[in-house]
Amino acid sequence: MSTVTPIDSEGLSAMIAEKRPQDRVQRLPARLLPPHRRSKGATRFTKIVATIGPASEDRLEELIDAGLSVARLNFSHGSADEHRRRMAKIKAASAHKMTPIAVLADLPGPKMRTGMFPDGKITLNEGDIVRVKPGQDVAAPGEVYVGVDDLLEAVHVGHRISLADGQVLLRATAKESDAIVAKCERAGPVGNRKGVHLPDSDVKYELPTDEDRELIELARELGVDMLGVSFVGHASELEEIRGLAPGIHLVSKIERQAALFNLDEILEATDGLMVARGDLGVELDLEHLPLVQKEILERAVRAGVYTITATEMLESMIEAGRPTRAEVTDVANAVLDGTDAVMLSAETAVGKHPVEAVATMAKIAQVAERSEIYSRRPSLGAAPERVYFSRATAMAAVHVAKEVDVDCIVCFTETGNTVRLLSRFRPDVEIVALSPRADTVRQMAVLAHVRPLLFRREPSLEAMIDTAADLLVARRIVETGDRVIFVAGVPVGFARSTNVLKLHRIGEDSRFA
Ligand code: PGA
Ligand code: MN
Repeated sequence: MSTVTPIDSEGLSAMIAEKRPQDRVQRLPARLLPPHRRSKGATRFTKIVATIGPASEDRLEELIDAGLSVARLNFSHGSADEHRRRMAKIKAASAHKMTPIAVLADLPGPKMRTGMFPDGKITLNEGDIVRVKPGQDVAAPGEVYVGVDDLLEAVHVGHRISLADGQVLLRATAKESDAIVAKCERAGPVGNRKGVHLPDSDVKYELPTDEDRELIELARELGVDMLGVSFVGHASELEEIRGLAPGIHLVSKIERQAALFNLDEILEATDGLMVARGDLGVELDLEHLPLVQKEILERAVRAGVYTITATEMLESMIEAGRPTRAEVTDVANAVLDGTDAVMLSAETAVGKHPVEAVATMAKIAQVAERSEIYSRRPSLGAAPERVYFSRATAMAAVHVAKEVDVDCIVCFTETGNTVRLLSRFRPDVEIVALSPRADTVRQMAVLAHVRPLLFRREPSLEAMIDTAADLLVARRIVETGDRVIFVAGVPVGFARSTNVLKLHRIGEDSRFA
């Protein structure tokens, strides 16, 4: 093991002094490597979610080569047949590339939208007075319809009415029998069916909506692995959706103020969480977003919930072949904040450079993860009040991995629960997660530090260890003589029984007796 120095002022000046780009490429990682070994096969720990649309559905194998782990189908756009077609293409690409890909179907939820305008849009100027009315109709001059049934009850004088996803801001100044009178405080254009937000008002909404219910049926038909739950505010909504979608992971999209207030109960009821910065950035003052992101990610990891950081991450790459400096920094910061995955939306759905966008994210994540700073990311901490064998085993495995300087942690799992815990403890090495269940393997694809692999059940733990060791060597994840830790449950084949930790040198006898 080579000794490496974390980046310091000397290191920085040496870096700056280096002129030849080739040297820089070769020497940078060594200097930025934290003082511990990394598992041999792992090049990147953070996962990439990409929205699949017209720009990417026929380039899926390239996306997988570039680093894709989760394919997102945005159910707010496209027909059922389009989703069926894309699902089939994802399955085919995943099989051909022998890479498990999780599919996340994102439900539209109760998104409020403007109605229509005679010319398709209007432009509001500062100081303009508009009458805001409930409904979806075509507006008369000086009026705007918004699709909120209880608009007149929920909006009071002084409340903000944000139009076009935050571009335009109105403030209610008076109430009439059929309209809210509002004054424009931030000018701009508003088109047909643009996003509306009422951050100060207690609007009644239904979740899941009727449309969501139909789309959940479609998600079940397609066999998706995760559902994105848009505009969730309460755990009870998640419970209802879970009843409609058994076996499918729920990813709660944090994009309303209510979700922030109720974050603890949502964390209890969800599998994963998305920092949905698009809508959240309208509900909050934008300048709060970076801090809220950190807070959400930290609380999620402590609650054992996995996370996806989303929206505008490489926005300029919809058009440009290269990202902006600010975008590169944003992706790196999300990684350093401890997100499991970073997400691409329009960049891959309709953008001009979908493969380059994925490859760019992969590169940014990889470099950020090699820094000393990454070792300060949040992780699951002290023991909870109740005793869980699997949690204690996972925690022990991660401690021992550090102590013994292993090359990777290998975990046998039925449901993925222990693997999720292991990944919450944020080990410095890769976790190879072996499951006989294809759905479990796919669902683990989103977890940072986890390499999921399909693995057949064996009758005994000894046989599992032997077969796993062969597989790991064949896949070039480890080689003879490497140290690994096996995490397992005996008797084998039962869910939630993780209770064994075995230190092992590849090539050694695995017999217990
Ligand atoms: P959306 O969700 O793109 O489906 O609206 C993400 C967000 O709001 O950031
Ligand atoms: Mn959203």
